Amino acid sequence: MGTTDCLIVGGGIVGAACARELARAGATVELLEAEHLGAGATSAGMGHLVTMDGVPGELELTRHGVEAWRREDEELKRVAEHVGTGTLWVASTPAEVEQLERQRQVFAAVGVDSALLTCAQLRAVEPALSDAACAGLRVAGDAIVYAPKAAQWLGRQSCGGRLRVHRGARVVRLGAHWVEAADGRRFDAAHVVVACGWQTRALLPDLPLVAKRGHLLITDRYPGTLRHHVLEIGYAASTHAHSAVSVSFNVQPRPSGQILIGSSREIGVDAAVEDPAIVRRLAARALHFLPGLAGASVLRAWTGVRAASPTGMPIIGRARLPDGQGQVWVATGHEGLGVTTALVTAAILRALIVGGALPQGLESTYAKEGS
Ligand SMILES: Cc1cc2nc3c(=O)[nH]c(=O)nc-3n(C[C@H](O)[C@H](O)[C@H](O)COP(=O)(O)OP(=O)(O)OC[C@H]3O[C@@H](n4cnc5c(N)ncnc54)[C@H](O)[C@@H]3O)c2cc1C
Repeated sequence: MGTTDCLIVGGGIVGAACARELARAGATVELLEAEHLGAGATSAGMGHLVTMDGVPGELELTRHGVEAWRREDEELKRVAEHVGTGTLWVASTPAEVEQLERQRQVFAAVGVDSALLTCAQLRAVEPALSDAACAGLRVAGDAIVYAPKAAQWLGRQSCGGRLRVHRGARVVRLGAHWVEAADGRRFDAAHVVVACGWQTRALLPDLPLVAKRGHLLITDRYPGTLRHHVLEIGYAASTHAHSAVSVSFNVQPRPSGQILIGSSREIGVDAAVEDPAIVRRLAARALHFLPGLAGASVLRAWTGVRAASPTGMPIIGRARLPDGQGQVWVATGHEGLGVTTALVTAAILRALIVGGALPQGLESTYAKEGS
């Protein structure tokens, strides 16, 4: 046994949530972050808390995730600018309208509140949408947050002195019960958890992670343009598609009045440099649905890397060390849903490490041996 119960490597939204959860459960926790809390994909994403049903297990995971955010500490929700915008999925073709209805039925079967909107109802709730959107599905319980602030807040919870954060601690080597930072510091613990998002591969190269780079744009302030987080139903299919590049209409009204415009997926790309052709495609797709944005000023474009697993579900459980010398815990591969599912990921990891029940419906996905 080490002097500490758990070392968490990586202070993104996932690592920070796991650190707080384990410390709340009574474990002593050291959270080691190479840069600052929320520095990775957590700062690059949209922070849309969204219920989705793309691959087996995803509906249960995201449902628990959205619900966990709703029940969270009011102070975290305030700091992270949690706003209950709901999600408005829009359809452009009769086939997509049928897809919305199928989605509604799936949601209804598990008690997720959603309602189909006709073209006229869609116009009434989101007047800025063009005729390209001919029907909608409103999911009332979905929301948005500003994820880097959430990661920082989670890391500040000392949980009775059991949670300590080490910024600027880049882990370069690790074993089943120890890690070593680039500056030579060594930390020992009973459990090591690696939660480095896409950078997990540097420490655990055998994990089957795939990069899915995304681009986002943010506009100047245009308050009142949108009320919901709005996206096309085709986005749902693109998240787990195998095409090399996909671009979908996916926009979020920020509390500041700015509009966050996404989103793209490029499989196997992790370069942190914007591609002007993809930026143009994103803007064109947004204008197709929101023609009123013509002439809006875009302040910034950036990229981030989603770490995806082969199943489309996050990898939460044990992983073998590359040298065969034992195992560590991992929580990575959250793809485009790591903010939505960070709190439920933490609950799963706590159940696996400390004990207790796994969230309902996820028992077989994340069995006691881990996934
Ligand atoms: C364009 C885009 C849009 C997205 N939109 C959404 C969305 O709307 N909703 C949603 O739920 N999710 C979204 N996501 C996904 C979400 O952002 C990620 O799933 C989530 O942020 C992953 O969090 P993480 O903590 O696993 O990884 P990261 O945020 O990448 O954090 C990993 C941390 O580990 C640190 N680290 C790395 N290596 C080491 C090391 N060796 N030692 C110590 N520390 C280390 C890094 O500095 C970093 O802080 C989006 C992602 C992108 C790119």
